[in-house]
Amino acid sequence: MARLFVVSGPSGVGKSTLLRRLVVEVPGLAFVVSHTTRPKRAGEVAGRDYHFVSDAEFDALVAEDAFVEWAFVHGNRYGTARSALAAGGPGDDLLIEVDVQGAEALRRKVPEAVSIFIAPPDFADLEERLVGRGRESVEEVRRRLATARRELPRAGAYDHEVVNRTVGETVGRLKALVLTARAEPSGICPSGTRR
Ligand code: 5GP
Repeated sequence: MARLFVVSGPSGVGKSTLLRRLVVEVPGLAFVVSHTTRPKRAGEVAGRDYHFVSDAEFDALVAEDAFVEWAFVHGNRYGTARSALAAGGPGDDLLIEVDVQGAEALRRKVPEAVSIFIAPPDFADLEERLVGRGRESVEEVRRRLATARRELPRAGAYDHEVVNRTVGETVGRLKALVLTARAEPSGICPSGTRR
C-alpha cells in the first residue's frame, strides 16, 4: 500500500528546495500539489507548485467537501484536495507539504502517515534565510517569523525531526527516512513500538 509522508517546517527553512530534490532522487514518490488562495510568486508554476485559486473558488471547494484538510496560513488559505491524493502512478508513495495544523489533521485521519518536521539550525539562521531571499516584504517576514515561533515547539509531535544544515545532507536524511519506512510493515518500528 502507498505510504504517506507529511512534511512541515517554518517558512524559509528550505522545504521547497529539499522536497523538489527528494522527489527527483527517490523513485515512486509523488508530490501532492495543494490548493491555495495565495497569489502566485515569480518562478512558480500553476499545477506544479500549487493550484492557485480565488477566494470564491476555495469557498466552493470547501462547500463541496473537496479537501482532506485545509487551514489559514500567513493570512491565506491552503488545502489538500482529495483529488490531489491521486498524484503519481499507481502505488506511488505520496509526499505532502502542510503547515502544523494540516499535519495534525492528516495524522488524525491517516495515523500510519510518517510525519517529518524540518527545522532550522537555530532561529537566527531562519531569520537570516528569510530576510536573505528577499522575496517577502519586511511586514511579511515579520509575520512568517512570528508563525515560526509558534511552529517550532510543535516539532516534537512529528515522528522525525530533521535539522536542515546543508541541502545535500538533509536530502540524504530524508531519503533514508523514506527508504526505512518502506522497509517496515505498516508504520511499525522494528522495536514493535508505533512511531
Ligand atoms: P508558502 O506560501 O510559503 O508556499 O507556504 C506557506 C505555508 O503553507 C507552509 O507552511 C506550507 O507548508 C503550508 N501549506 C502548503 N500547502 C498546504 C496545504 O495543503 N495545507 C496546509 N494546511 N498547509 C499548507
